[in-house]
Amino acid sequence: MRPKRYTRHWTVFLLSLLACGLGAFALWQAAGGPAQPASGSAPAKEELAAQRSSLLDQAAALARGYYYQEAIDLLEQAGPGLQNEQTAQAAESYRQAQQDLVLYEGTVYHIFFHSLIVYPELAFDDTGHPAEGYNMWMTTVSEFQKMLPLLLEKGFVLYDITELVETAEDGTVTPKPIYLPPGKKPLVLSVDDVSYYDYMAPDGFASRMVINDQGDVVTEVQAPDGTVYQTYEGDVQPILDQFVKEHPEFSWRGAKGVLAPTGYQGAFGYRITDLELYTPEEGQQMLEAVKAISQRLRETGWQIGCHSYTHNGYWRGDITMEELESDLTRWKELIGTYTGQTNILITPFGAHYSPDDPRYQYMIDQGFTILCPVQANMSTTFTGQGMIQNRLNLDGYTMLKHPERVSQHFFDPQLVLDGARPPL
Ligand SMILES: [Zn+2]
Repeated sequence: MRPKRYTRHWTVFLLSLLACGLGAFALWQAAGGPAQPASGSAPAKEELAAQRSSLLDQAAALARGYYYQEAIDLLEQAGPGLQNEQTAQAAESYRQAQQDLVLYEGTVYHIFFHSLIVYPELAFDDTGHPAEGYNMWMTTVSEFQKMLPLLLEKGFVLYDITELVETAEDGTVTPKPIYLPPGKKPLVLSVDDVSYYDYMAPDGFASRMVINDQGDVVTEVQAPDGTVYQTYEGDVQPILDQFVKEHPEFSWRGAKGVLAPTGYQGAFGYRITDLELYTPEEGQQMLEAVKAISQRLRETGWQIGCHSYTHNGYWRGDITMEELESDLTRWKELIGTYTGQTNILITPFGAHYSPDDPRYQYMIDQGFTILCPVQANMSTTFTGQGMIQNRLNLDGYTMLKHPERVSQHFFDPQLVLDGARPPL
């Protein structure tokens, strides 16, 4: 049995393909569909050949992103004038690729980041927030950009964390089989604290996400000279979106990663939990922005996870049931209402909760069937009620203090480390 999954990403993917090439409808029309004007003659041979070549390109792009069935359907549903030996051969090759997928039984790798440092000279100048904290727990834009081709080269493919679990009607959670081309390895990626906190603003980070003229979610960044501009290079999310656009084979059917904001300073740079500081109109605009950004993120392969409301130190282990309840309830009401609800909980400080801990049970009862703490082994366990997946931080701390944790699976940190980092 081969998986034949249709996810929402595919629609967006195809739509974007159609937008930049000839539409399937236009192809069908040109191939002699009934909308052809009665007086029109059959399209010239060269024109048909050009349309066929565009169709083949679209199918190839779909197949590169592992949308094999969609590529086959596109070719086989094209007008009869367009189908020929070449399109049949292409369809056959995608059918073969589909049959060649193998059940993956190894580690599901999970790496995570915080918001990227855009201007190291500001983050490491030791004014504002101490440079050491950034040096330990953050990654710079240039480091992240260097990691991506190395991960691609190693055979990693971004995988949607929600596609790792199967939930039965009685709530039992089991692993969902993963089928990949031979040699490929699933990689889950997450970004913690995607809130763009006030304290980071003067230290060379993006300040919020915005949707640009092209409908893409990008970042707004303030340059050292004070200029504010929009860029695709201000954080993990737009950088990864652009990379996958160029390298669809780095993403299994459009999957990107998990973005996990807290709540105490809103989400994605919008202070939606401090609305009393703004006019009602401003407040409404911020809520609408978070909704629109979240919707666009989900359409483009991102999941949104919960990283708690408070990120309070009690999450390190001594959180009481009352604190837990209040924290998660506030996130769901004040953030989840606008970002969309989620079954992914990324614990603050990477804290672990044992399946027999009543607090774990409470998380499950609240719908958080996917729990993501931190541990370098990146192990995944199924508790019956949910999945616990450990993550590795690809930041200064790991790359400088424990380079072997990175090199044994991914790449030599020396190849990516930013020269602007002070010694740790
Ligand atoms: Zn955090």
